Amino acid sequence: MNARHKQNWAALSDVGRIRSHNEDAYLADPPLFVVADGLGGHEAGEVASQLAVETLRDHAPRRPDSNALARAVRAANREVIRAAREGIGRSGMGTTITAALVEGTHAVVAQVGDSRAYLMRGGTLTRITEDHSMVADLIRSGQITEAESRIHPNRSVITRALGTDPNMYADTFEIDGEPGDRLLLCSDGLTSMLLDTEIAKALEEHSDPAAAARELIRAANHAGGQDNITVVIVDLDGGTSASHGPRESERRLRGVVKVIGWLLLLALVVGGIGAATYRYARSRAFLITSGNDLVLYRGVPGDLGGLSLSWQLDSGTIAVSALSPAEQARLAEGERFDSVAEAQRAFDDYERRAPADVHF
Ligand code: MG
Repeated sequence: MNARHKQNWAALSDVGRIRSHNEDAYLADPPLFVVADGLGGHEAGEVASQLAVETLRDHAPRRPDSNALARAVRAANREVIRAAREGIGRSGMGTTITAALVEGTHAVVAQVGDSRAYLMRGGTLTRITEDHSMVADLIRSGQITEAESRIHPNRSVITRALGTDPNMYADTFEIDGEPGDRLLLCSDGLTSMLLDTEIAKALEEHSDPAAAARELIRAANHAGGQDNITVVIVDLDGGTSASHGPRESERRLRGVVKVIGWLLLLALVVGGIGAATYRYARSRAFLITSGNDLVLYRGVPGDLGGLSLSWQLDSGTIAVSALSPAEQARLAEGERFDSVAEAQRAFDDYERRAPADVHF
């Protein structure tokens, strides 16, 4: 678990109980607070969410200005698209983003995807954002209920994200708060595990934001912890005014760390495929379709410097058209997993959900 907190805010992220990577990213740098949930294959999701948070930090206004915050989100979107095009991360990688700019009891929120913002006032929890997801659309059109959405096979399909559409825009919200109001930003790893009433209870019972954040993470893990869980809690009591940005020395240090990161990557590429890369590939797995054939490989899709790092383990025929468009797209490109066991489970699941039509 990694955590940051001050008297009137807390930020906490946990990998959960199933995933081996944390693809969520967050920022708590008053007056700016951000949660981002990376998508599109494990390593790439991490790159996308981190890049989006960093770009947003560099472009965000220092006052609650919703248009300026939305512009910063668009800059983050362009940056994720550019990075994928230049081969950083992976094409098709993306991220949600939910950002709040807080000044006293006034806040603006910009949001894309299914990471949410809530406002807690006097024991009542109100959802500020509306998820950009397939199940949210189905709930809005009356086709399924909130309870059904929690077990819907396409519950993780989101309809708007950073990293895919250059014309993407963020929804923005203004909060004219009162002292004592509490703002919560969170990834779907929290809201897919806990009902709003359970979230409200944790926020109500813990006046210390750090304690409330710990309790939310504990409860989400207790309920299954099926995804990465990130929570940012900000008490709107006037203590989060735009008093300071990142210090210049801190910015410079971050810049240096970034440059060292790129140099290491460059050394790895120039030096050829190292043992570490080989070991890494051996620990991974992916599923890919070719026509109606679903193939399970150990390794990573594509090749590195002309060298293929994949080994076929299993294959089968499925009815690819029975899967959602998002799943089809993912499988056509190669859906990545952290382990062979995880990929094997997904393989079995696809075979079960999209059995091939057998004609004699
Ligand atoms: Mg998530």
